[in-house]
Amino acid sequence: MLDQFQRKIEYLRISVTDRCNLRCIYCMPVEGVQWMPHDSILSFEEILRLMRISTQLGFRRFRITGGEPLVRKGILDFLREGAIIPGVEDFMITTNGLLLPKMAFDLKAAGVQRVNISLDTMDSERFRAITRVGEVSSVIQGVFRSLEAGLDPVKINVVVVRGVNTDELPNFLKLAKQYPLHVRFIELMPIGISSKQRADFVPIQEMKELLGLKENILTQGILGGGPAEYVQPRGFKGSIGFISAMSRHFCDTCNRVRLTADGKLRPCLHSKNEVSLRDALRNGTSDEILRDLFAQAVWHKPAKHHMNDEALQGQRVMSQIGG
Ligand code: SAM
Ligand code: SF4
Repeated sequence: MLDQFQRKIEYLRISVTDRCNLRCIYCMPVEGVQWMPHDSILSFEEILRLMRISTQLGFRRFRITGGEPLVRKGILDFLREGAIIPGVEDFMITTNGLLLPKMAFDLKAAGVQRVNISLDTMDSERFRAITRVGEVSSVIQGVFRSLEAGLDPVKINVVVVRGVNTDELPNFLKLAKQYPLHVRFIELMPIGISSKQRADFVPIQEMKELLGLKENILTQGILGGGPAEYVQPRGFKGSIGFISAMSRHFCDTCNRVRLTADGKLRPCLHSKNEVSLRDALRNGTSDEILRDLFAQAVWHKPAKHHMNDEALQGQRVMSQIGG
C-alpha cells in the first residue's frame, strides 16, 4: 500500500521476542532489560493473523527478528506456517547466528529463503568483549551451515564501532572475496543504550577509507537499490555493502514498518509513535477493522526520522524493536 507520501510500503519486520542469548554492548545493558511479560508478547497465531492481514494490504516481504528469534520456542512451526501465507514472496530472518549450526537446514526446510547474520568480529576474545557471552566459532560455523543449507543470500551484518572492530574491516573484505557472502558494514545508530555513545560512531566514508576502497571500485556493480549501497569488486565471490542511517538518510525510499513483540506497529524505527494492535487482536476485533487500524498506522508513517533528536526516539532499546 502507499503511505501519505506516496511511498510503497510492502515490507514488515516482525520481532517475535525481546529475549536474547547475547548482550551486545551497543544493544543491551549487561544485566539485560526488563523483559516484556509473557502475556504481553503476541502468540504465533496472533502474528500469523497480522501477517495475513498485511498481505491483504499489499505487504510482500517479511523479516523475522528479535531479540534473538531462534530462541523462541516453536519458532520453526511458526516459520513453516508464515512461509506459505499467500502473498508472502520474500521470507527472511535476522539472527545472531549462535543457533545456526543446528538450525540452518531446518530454517531452509521451513521455507525461510535468506538469512542475515550479525557478526562484528571474527576474534573470539573480541567477540566476548562485544557480545559478553557466546562463542564466535558457533556463529562462524553457522555462517557456513547457512551456505550449505542453500539459504541465499547469506548476509553478514557488521556494526562498526570505533576502537572496537575498526581494524578488522579488511578481514571482512577478505571473507567477501573468498566466499559468496554479502558483508554489510553498518553505522552505529544512536538508539537505546547507544544513544550516549556517539564518540564510537564511524561514518561510512571513513569505513571505505579503512578498507582502502577507491571510489572507482565503488562505482562498479552496485547491486541493490535499498538502504544498502552494494559493491562487488572484481574477483569477489561475495559482495560488500554499506548501510548508513546517520550520514545518509534513506527515508524517501523507506518501504518498511515494524511489529514489536508486544504487538505495536511502529511505522519508523526512530519514532516513538506506535499503534497497539494487541488489544484489538485480543478483544474480538474483526479482520476488517484490524486491517483499517493497520492501514491507518502505515498511512501516518513519518516523512523522515529524527534520530538526532533524542526526545522523539522513545525509550525502547534495539533488542525491543528488532533492528
Ligand atoms: N538478535 C538478532 C541479531 O543480532 O541479528 C536480531 C535482532 S538485532 C536487534 C538486529 C540488528 O540490529 C543486528 O544486526 C544488530 O547488530 C543491530 N543493532 C543493534 N543495536 C544497534 C545499534 N545501536 N546501531 C546499529 N545496529 C544495531
Ligand atoms: Fe541480542 Fe541481536 Fe541485540 Fe546482540 S544485537 S544483544 S544478539 S538482539
